Amino acid sequence: MIATSRKPRAFAPDPDAPGRGCDIPNCPHQGEFRAPKSRSTLREFYWFCLDHVRAYNASWDFYKDMSPDEIEAELRADSAWQRPTWPLGRLGAHARMDEALEAELNAFAFGQHAKPAPQAGAPQELREALGTLELGWPVTLDEVKTRYKELAKRHHPDANHGDKGSEERLKRINLAYATLRGKLAANQARTAETVAD
Ligand SMILES: [Zn+2]
Repeated sequence: MIATSRKPRAFAPDPDAPGRGCDIPNCPHQGEFRAPKSRSTLREFYWFCLDHVRAYNASWDFYKDMSPDEIEAELRADSAWQRPTWPLGRLGAHARMDEALEAELNAFAFGQHAKPAPQAGAPQELREALGTLELGWPVTLDEVKTRYKELAKRHHPDANHGDKGSEERLKRINLAYATLRGKLAANQARTAETVAD
């Protein structure tokens, strides 16, 4: 690999690839490209070869209403993936990913969502909680609630096969939410009083 590019390419091999084979059963290639496992588990990834990550991305709409388990079962059903007619048949109308989705997938692929949100100016005692919920500052109580619901759903042990890590993460999320909610609700009450005066 001598090619250098200033901008990340859509399908550049991921430097964080775990160095194992493609997650599609019986695929002989390296799994160098990541793809979110489902809409509800966007931070967990499959590792695919180039062809399969393209196919998976193009099938994103097809998986829209499936749970992570259903997607997993679909991917494991190698008849669906190994049949020579698969790419055309499956991709069909969805062969072209829309730009927004492509940007979204690339953002995940290049870890842009993993960067902490800017918290400059946030009260010291709230920074950890903001970091846990991946929120910037300032933030409203509604924004905190919305993010909390998202994260609580994503990290719920039921959605992660009872994974111990998810359970721990969920505890931190709950704690961060309680901290932020308490503080922001108090601020809102104070603002309301001021306005009423
Ligand atoms: Zn593959």
